[in-house]
Amino acid sequence: MDFFQRQYPMTSVTQQQIIDLTTQLNRYAREYYTQDAPSVPDAEYDRLFRQLQAWEAQYPQWVQPDSPTQRVGGEVLSGFGSVTHQVPMLSLNNAFSPKSEQGAFNHAEMYAFDERIHQALRQTPLYTAEPKFDGLAISLRYEQGVLIQAATRGDGATGEDVTQNARTIRAIPLRLHGDSVPDLLEVRGEVLMLKSDFADLNRRQLAAEQKPFVNPRNAAAGSLRQLDAKITAKRRLYFFAYAIALLDDTFTPASHDDELALLACWGFAIPPENTLCRRADMAQVLTFYEHMHSIRASLPFEIDGVVVKVNDLTQQRQLGFVSRAPRFAIAHKFPAEEALTQVEAIDVQVGRTGAITPVARLKPVFVGGVTVTNATLHNEGEARRKDVRVGDTVVVRRAGDVIPEVVSVVLAKRPMIAAAQSGMLNLFDDAVAQQSQYQPFELPAHCPVCGHEIECEEGEAVARCSGGMLCQAQRAQALIHFSSRKAMDIDGLGQRQIELLVSQNRVRHFADVYRLTLADLQAMKYEADTADNDNNRLPENIADVSDKNEISAPSKNNVLITSGNNIDTAQPTKWAENILNGIAVARIRPLHRFLYALGIRHVGERTAKQLAQAFGDLATVSAATEPVLACLPDIGGVVAHSVAHFFRQPEQAAQVEELLAAGVVPETESKRFNLSGFIQPARWLSRLPNIKLSEIRAQALWDLVGGKGEALLTDTALPQEWQQWRNQAVNQTILRETLVFLSQIEPLLQTQPAPAAEQNNTLVGKTFVLTGSLPNWSRDEAQQHIEAVGGKVSGSVSKKTDYVVAGVAAGSKLAKAEHLGVAVIDEEELRQLLKVM
Ligand code: NAD
Repeated sequence: MDFFQRQYPMTSVTQQQIIDLTTQLNRYAREYYTQDAPSVPDAEYDRLFRQLQAWEAQYPQWVQPDSPTQRVGGEVLSGFGSVTHQVPMLSLNNAFSPKSEQGAFNHAEMYAFDERIHQALRQTPLYTAEPKFDGLAISLRYEQGVLIQAATRGDGATGEDVTQNARTIRAIPLRLHGDSVPDLLEVRGEVLMLKSDFADLNRRQLAAEQKPFVNPRNAAAGSLRQLDAKITAKRRLYFFAYAIALLDDTFTPASHDDELALLACWGFAIPPENTLCRRADMAQVLTFYEHMHSIRASLPFEIDGVVVKVNDLTQQRQLGFVSRAPRFAIAHKFPAEEALTQVEAIDVQVGRTGAITPVARLKPVFVGGVTVTNATLHNEGEARRKDVRVGDTVVVRRAGDVIPEVVSVVLAKRPMIAAAQSGMLNLFDDAVAQQSQYQPFELPAHCPVCGHEIECEEGEAVARCSGGMLCQAQRAQALIHFSSRKAMDIDGLGQRQIELLVSQNRVRHFADVYRLTLADLQAMKYEADTADNDNNRLPENIADVSDKNEISAPSKNNVLITSGNNIDTAQPTKWAENILNGIAVARIRPLHRFLYALGIRHVGERTAKQLAQAFGDLATVSAATEPVLACLPDIGGVVAHSVAHFFRQPEQAAQVEELLAAGVVPETESKRFNLSGFIQPARWLSRLPNIKLSEIRAQALWDLVGGKGEALLTDTALPQEWQQWRNQAVNQTILRETLVFLSQIEPLLQTQPAPAAEQNNTLVGKTFVLTGSLPNWSRDEAQQHIEAVGGKVSGSVSKKTDYVVAGVAAGSKLAKAEHLGVAVIDEEELRQLLKVM
């Protein structure tokens, strides 16, 4: 029985089906080879190609003259000169090793190849195996050592003359290296684009609002086949040589690896040593294939399999060729990483940080070694750019361990487009009937988990749920941040406990943490232990729950001796007491830590400090309005909006209130800078939202009302643009609130900066760099002390550094300080400077 009949069982097929499949494959081949824009994955093409081969083997009388099984892929693009290949450029026959769900390869097709070679040669062959580069083949002709012609494969007999373009590729030697070069050499190899260059190119394409390339192969093919060589020159292409087609008699390589060695001497890049398997038997070849499959993702270039070649050139000649491919070589392809399937729904997922990701729910498809049912669409912009709709047939990719993604839509399979392309009326009717299904994707306005608004800030690709701690999906992350060292610093409360408290619904608001009791924590542990036990975990694992806080390791006797909800109070509780102590201590924290802990978007440590030092107490910070906040140094419009918006959301405000009610005290901080210097009428007026006033125009407006803020709300003689702005309710509210807030902070605007800086004025603005570990202070503590007197702490040493504070094991920063002559002090001297003993 023929090889293809073994693969595809005999089925009855009509001549028309063979003609249709031939036409379909030729259309795909045209898209792939001529237009460099395939619409279906290679695996889909390969599947249909094999189907056609099987049918043709069954009904040879119906093989079409233009069948893709009878010829080599492409055609010559008009605009290029054509080159007749002295030695035809052929394709390769393929072998596949399907992978089971358990991850084992089935190499039957390769054993069959080995068997055929054995039988034809009547001896055991040795093979060389190398990467199957995913680029496009070219042939380079050198005469007297000089590159005189480069041609694409075309239809195998005639290719396109791309000499000018090839000359721009640095890896192609224009003149062969070395003293001993042949008079005539024709080299075959692959032009490709490295993954990193491909990513750069697509970034540039998107920035220029041009269509990105589907993959590096298409980018390489599209770049080489440019009528303008200047464009090719701008795209970074690479070249690997893998065979010699013509060589004069001065050199007589005996094997494929001799050929590679010669090519390397003449200056060509050959398949890198770590991707070559030389003079090997089939078992070694298969091990090599599996190894290459495992390192595929880490290679700098794309490969889609391994090419296995009989090494001995005499044996190669003996084996010869079939119509479109050599008998002595085979492309051993990797299992497909891309497949076709249908989109059944598009949902959105909310990440731990609130990031919203649209996810396509798919008809299950086996790809990349697993059954894929969901694929990410990354973000709203991507979903729109790819225009993925429910009902669409899509290309799904699952490469290595990367999360499956929707690569593209097969538009020709969307009824409206198929109908438009066909021009057939009945197809139009069908398309209209299905129209309701194929709607463009829209991001929902509200979070599917908590119902809070989904926000997407200008210039940001990712939309986010604004719920924060109020959103179940983000709660654990928000709480980890809240209790972290630089925030409320709740000693003993680790990530594992937080995850449990949240998943068991024991903590829903920040304030709940401060209401936890010993019984709550014991119940939490009990529930987790029970769940672990249900999952057949050994009782020893209970130690996981209490994490590092568990002092006495639980033995089989003191765990799980309870039933129902009765918690065994005999269990050790030191770990829980530690947590409760940590929580109690973390009730009182400086205001800036409290603000940072709330997880207000864009409010990092530095901004939190700015806010605390500007306004001193929580009530003032939370009442500050957007234009006033935007007057503070280092706080821009986006941050100001985020802070003001946070405190105006009733649920967020309620959370803060609850924290205070639970006994949390954000300690008032002293004012560190001269507010009146920043909060001036021209500045806050120019920072009002929804209107663009320069500071000069804002000052003029202020002068018009004679410095009376109230008049801004009522004066009808003010410019029209202003009156129109203030007539909008939201604008009026913000203006009114701002005026009220300004009158409230009037006394604050009068006071001078806090005394700390005055006491130690000498250090204001001085830059310190900390290196090594200090004997008594942690880096954070040292930083706090330095900042308290107006100094700054920087991460790197430069001429502008005033002091390097060096501790034990100080490294290169100390050396650099000494080199630059910067003052180096120890902790003791720092304390003296700071007057903190
Ligand atoms: P091929 O790519 O399967 O194999 C032949 C080619 O392998 C050679 O021309 C050469 O360019 C390349 N190659 C890479 N590394 C090599 C090495 N080390 N030694 C020798 N050759 C090496 O065959 P093909 O005819 O170029 O293309 C057929 C394949 O193209 C199909 O199997 C399919 O995957 C893809 N294709 C896809 C579509 C589509 O619509 N997606 C359409 C047509 C073809």
